[in-house]
Amino acid sequence: MFGTTYEEIIERIMSEKGLSKEDVNFRVNDKLTKLSGLISNTGAAHIVANELGVKIFENTKKDFKIKNLFSGVRGVTLNSKVIAKYDVREFNKNGRIGKVQNLLIGDDSGTCRLVIWDSNQINTIETVNPNDILRVDNFYIKENNFGKEIHLTNDSKIEINPAGVVIADVNKEIDRGSVVKIKDLGENQNTTIQGTIVQVFDLRFYDSCPECNKKVIFEDGAFKCNEHGIVKEVPVPILNFYLDDGSEAIRTVLFRDNAKKILKLDDETILEIRKNPDLFNSVKDNILGELIKVSGRTNKNEMFQRVEFTGNYVEKVDVKKVLSEVVNSL
Ligand SMILES: [Zn+2]
Repeated sequence: MFGTTYEEIIERIMSEKGLSKEDVNFRVNDKLTKLSGLISNTGAAHIVANELGVKIFENTKKDFKIKNLFSGVRGVTLNSKVIAKYDVREFNKNGRIGKVQNLLIGDDSGTCRLVIWDSNQINTIETVNPNDILRVDNFYIKENNFGKEIHLTNDSKIEINPAGVVIADVNKEIDRGSVVKIKDLGENQNTTIQGTIVQVFDLRFYDSCPECNKKVIFEDGAFKCNEHGIVKEVPVPILNFYLDDGSEAIRTVLFRDNAKKILKLDDETILEIRKNPDLFNSVKDNILGELIKVSGRTNKNEMFQRVEFTGNYVEKVDVKKVLSEVVNSL
């Protein structure tokens, strides 16, 4: 949800453009069909409004949650808690000398970066520490591969620890940005993809150090870590598969806990598979066809001249939920 309801957006489009409800619904459903049910009906309504030049947030002064911010949001207020404040950096870009201050802020919906360019504003928050509350007005949102950033402008207003504002719990889950189509992936891109597992390769392993998780080598009858010497090795599963999102398929690799999460196997069973790889065949069948969302990074496999994806976070997508969102909007 973006803070404005589906009905509110539809009414706004109808009144501003003089369109019938049927007409607006038709346009929204068309978007939902084209985007293969990967967006909600509210998301589709926003896209239609945007295409028709209907401003949903104009003159609306609402308190927003971090999760609901997206590029294009203007004139809203955000209350957040400071999680980290980084050192002020000086820059010299094309002869322009200036300062920039980054903070990590959060609320109960998520976290994001707050970027401040104005020296006066940087001075204003000089005394701010983690756990202080910031209320900011008149900012804009930049979305990049690392997620959302809030940028303040010269007109932005900052209030430190405003009266009556309490943020008890910060949801530290990182905002991983919107899903990118596999065919649009570039090299060395940090992003999120979503698709179906269409081919699974044999499970592979490496041995790691229980202290630092780094790869260990077998030497003179023992496993050795560069840093921790002789250790009891921990086998790490490496799961390779093709993920297909309808636009293209990409070879994807998951390690350790992320591999376990998809395989749904305990450590004991994983060790059994290592001894007897044939056991993996039935597991393969179980995960084929699963719809998952993977965040990570693309990298070029020089040997095979193809771009692959290394995941660092994975979650199963609830197909029923995606479908019901589409059905509800019809
Ligand atoms: Zn180690």
